[in-house]
Amino acid sequence: MTTGHAFAAGIVRWQAQFGRHDLPWQGTRDPYRIWLSEVMLQQTQVRTVIPYYLRFLDCFPDVAAIAAAPLERVMELWSGLGYYSRARNLHRCAQSVVRQHGGRFPGSAAALAELPGIGPSTAAAIAAFAFGERSAILDGNVKRVLCRHFGVAGWPGERRVEQMLWAIAQRELPERDIERYTQGLMDLGAQTCVRSRPRCDSCPVAASCVARIEGRQALLPMARPPRATPVREAGWLVILDQDSVLLERRPPTGIWGGLLSFPEVAPGERERAAEAAVARFGVTPWRVTALAPVHHAFTHFRLIAHPMLIEVGRGGVLATESQTIWVARATAGQQALPQPVRGFLEQLSLSVGPDPALRKRRDPTDGG
Ligand code: SF4
Repeated sequence: MTTGHAFAAGIVRWQAQFGRHDLPWQGTRDPYRIWLSEVMLQQTQVRTVIPYYLRFLDCFPDVAAIAAAPLERVMELWSGLGYYSRARNLHRCAQSVVRQHGGRFPGSAAALAELPGIGPSTAAAIAAFAFGERSAILDGNVKRVLCRHFGVAGWPGERRVEQMLWAIAQRELPERDIERYTQGLMDLGAQTCVRSRPRCDSCPVAASCVARIEGRQALLPMARPPRATPVREAGWLVILDQDSVLLERRPPTGIWGGLLSFPEVAPGERERAAEAAVARFGVTPWRVTALAPVHHAFTHFRLIAHPMLIEVGRGGVLATESQTIWVARATAGQQALPQPVRGFLEQLSLSVGPDPALRKRRDPTDGG
């Protein structure tokens, strides 16, 4: 591993020869231009940023011009660049600079980081490029370079790992050439130590890179560990009479908004499903059967529904709640149903046919 300032020295030398020197926001010490470019570059690649940056400079030649513009105009010009909170913060930041700092950006990373939309890494980059301040940057690209070069294990989004990376970034800062070093780190991350298939052959710090030496470039930085998916449970009241099933329209917002599904009870109340059905729908259950749970995966959670099959007589089948309707079992599949409900009903129609006893019980005049 590189010690002392050899890492920085290698990057500084490499930047001078192979780094980027002609970007429209280079060759200036104007904090306004540097700030504008750094905010735009936060989540967007250089190629995409350039035309936006030039258009912004045309319309807003200085920070006072952005501060004076209506937010709508800023949003309009930002349109297509994505992550729109950046544009709102850009506007707020310009207004803060005008109102609280007399139209001049504060001259240190610490003070810049107090402004809206300027995190510690962006603040450090502005301070390095505009004021030559010796301050560490740590954006996504730099995290990747440091994780690989210094063999830092763990997911960089984890606080402990991020703190370790900040400490390394701080430790490796050179005494001189901070602008070139900062630009070099950015260039290395964007062009050479790229996410997949890094170009180690042309990397200035390859000789001391832990990931390269150990062949772990593809494993570093480590991916976010999979999160345990939360589970939600619900009791389904599957109320059937001979020909129909009772369905309930779900509220317009939330999962399955506006679709028809089974009336639900809290998972702990499914033992009292029959009482719930009587109280809510005025039905007369004659048999209650707990069926196998239904599993369904949503993006952010897993649903486990516990269906309680409640077979009811025809006599008391008036729905008492406005959002519930009886639907013919034969045509229930044509309704707007969530996929797991549809699948469950299809299975059910195969396994639960009209029960002769039920038929007899419901309609004594029907010869069955
Ligand atoms: S040697 Fe390869 S993996 Fe290591 S810092 Fe350079 S480009 Fe990245």
